[in-house]
Amino acid sequence: MAKKYKGCAVGIDLGTTYSCVAVWQEHLNRVEIIHNDQGNNTTPSCVAFTVHERMIGDAAKNQAATNPENTVFDSKRLIGRKYSDDIVQKDKMLWPFKVIAGANDKPVIVVKYKGEEKQLCVEEVSSMILGKMREIAEAFLEKPVKNAVVTVPAYFNDSQRKATIDAGAIAGLNVVRIISEPTAAAIAYGLDRRNSSVEERNIFVFDLGGGTFDVSLLTIQDKNYHVKATAGNSHLGGEDIDNKMVKYFVKEFKRKNKVDISGNPRALRRLRTACERAKRTLSSAITVTVEIDALFEGIDFYSSMTRARFEEINLELFEECMETVERCLTDAEIEKSSVHDVVLVGGSSRIPKVQKLLQDFFNGKDLCKSINPDEAVAYGAAVQAALLSEGIKNVPNLVLLDVTPLSLGIELEGDVMSVVIPRNTTIPVKRTEVYNTVDDNQSAVDISVYEGERTRASDNNLLGFFTLSGFSRALRGHPFDVTFAMDENGILSVSAEDKTTGNKNKITISNNKDRLSAGEIERMIQEADIYKVEDKKFLRKAKTKNDLDDCIYEIRKALKKHDINSILCREEKEEMWSAINRATDLVDEKNEQDDMVVFEDCLNELRSMLERLKTT
Ligand code: AMP
Repeated sequence: MAKKYKGCAVGIDLGTTYSCVAVWQEHLNRVEIIHNDQGNNTTPSCVAFTVHERMIGDAAKNQAATNPENTVFDSKRLIGRKYSDDIVQKDKMLWPFKVIAGANDKPVIVVKYKGEEKQLCVEEVSSMILGKMREIAEAFLEKPVKNAVVTVPAYFNDSQRKATIDAGAIAGLNVVRIISEPTAAAIAYGLDRRNSSVEERNIFVFDLGGGTFDVSLLTIQDKNYHVKATAGNSHLGGEDIDNKMVKYFVKEFKRKNKVDISGNPRALRRLRTACERAKRTLSSAITVTVEIDALFEGIDFYSSMTRARFEEINLELFEECMETVERCLTDAEIEKSSVHDVVLVGGSSRIPKVQKLLQDFFNGKDLCKSINPDEAVAYGAAVQAALLSEGIKNVPNLVLLDVTPLSLGIELEGDVMSVVIPRNTTIPVKRTEVYNTVDDNQSAVDISVYEGERTRASDNNLLGFFTLSGFSRALRGHPFDVTFAMDENGILSVSAEDKTTGNKNKITISNNKDRLSAGEIERMIQEADIYKVEDKKFLRKAKTKNDLDDCIYEIRKALKKHDINSILCREEKEEMWSAINRATDLVDEKNEQDDMVVFEDCLNELRSMLERLKTT
């Protein structure tokens, strides 16, 4: 039976563009999606740094256009990857923020915060988003939240999963379980419980978000979840649809007004925002109008788009999605007629044409779309979190078993991959294999651990390397055990042991080169606390400045109303104007004052002056 954790546990969908947090509410007997301070159920996975403050979520996204170099998004695309990875190199070209190579080829994000350069590792950025999701949950639940189930794409490898857990640790969260996103969506729909017999059930998860497209074929049998195949495009989603609309309207503007706005970033940005809004409208309306005042050189833009035209300009994209669906089924070796349920995930899966093409592909099958597609993954994660929490009784009892996403093994002589745990093995799992030394008088063996499906070890991903030493000098063929253990989060440890000599020399895999050390995590936790203190200080200063501004306004108003000479003597008048001027300088940040006492003293002084003016 799975270990249970004390205290409140939430489910977090840490998305590439948006994140979502949900919780099982025992008294309501259902999952509740938690809205943020803006009233939104999803929060942009975005962190920004300015001369004054750090912002996370909506605030960060809203200022992105004016501070692009210091606004970090898409950190999920970097997590657990090397800087030299082709994907990182390609993505880097598209980002306005700077990414450089750090120690051990880890990517490092460089931003300017309070006028100084700051280098952040990807786990730190993700931890800021996880921390924000935690704050959102704590504000809603009015109690501390320590534990979380966090979701990751099904294809995430060992280092990407570990890095996600580390990001949680930096945010002060105990990540009690990592589950794959399609599995979470299937849980949300309780699809495992529809199965009264023990027959295998095939679930197809179609996830079209803002910037990524993932499809997965899962099978559920005896409450075991197997991700049989995944396919997708890491750069296809709602943003591409927005771009197609922007292109269309740029052409129209040129035709109507004989001017080209394609070289004007501000006009394009405004047009893109309007297109995104229009796109959402077209998911429920048949036609939409787009109106932007003074879009370019004072020229207003008024236009409209029908749903039919929208579908026409995006058809190529939608058809590409369907090709991916087909490829996934082929990889899984499953006929489309054998798919029991089709689950919609991701905001862009709301587009009626996408739903229609998918439904037609599955021969008219009803699609599972009763749960909000932006929220389905967090919903499933919250159910899993409740199952792992002490004292929760009403949650539907499912024993979730995930599988290893990739085969795991060691390198044998001749660069051969010897698989110890095959792909799709239900986890947790522990397997031991016996290997033999290859040379006479060998005193040690080097063990390289790989993940992947290729037969040549070096074509796979090297996870770690260690040496088992202390053999008595024996002839070749001397046996030793290698044990692979993967826990329920998909985290691997490997040990080796020379049993015959009784010389227990057990070594756990040390692939900590890529992973943050305990010391580094500790340092980042401390830094995160410093950020929090600074954020609080900034808020306190902003509030005091606001109060000061109010007071200045009220005093000026009161002075206008009264005959000032009848109330104040000359010294008092001078004193009052000097206080107002000082306060105005503080509000306008004319002097580099950072001491809160100065702000608060000034506010108290103005408040007593205002009191005096009001009572005379
Ligand atoms: P996600 O990454 O799953 O949060 O999805 C975000 C994407 O979904 C964005 O590109 C949104 O523009 C898109 N989206 C959200 N709601 C709708 C809708 N009603 N119709 C079309 N696209 C939508």
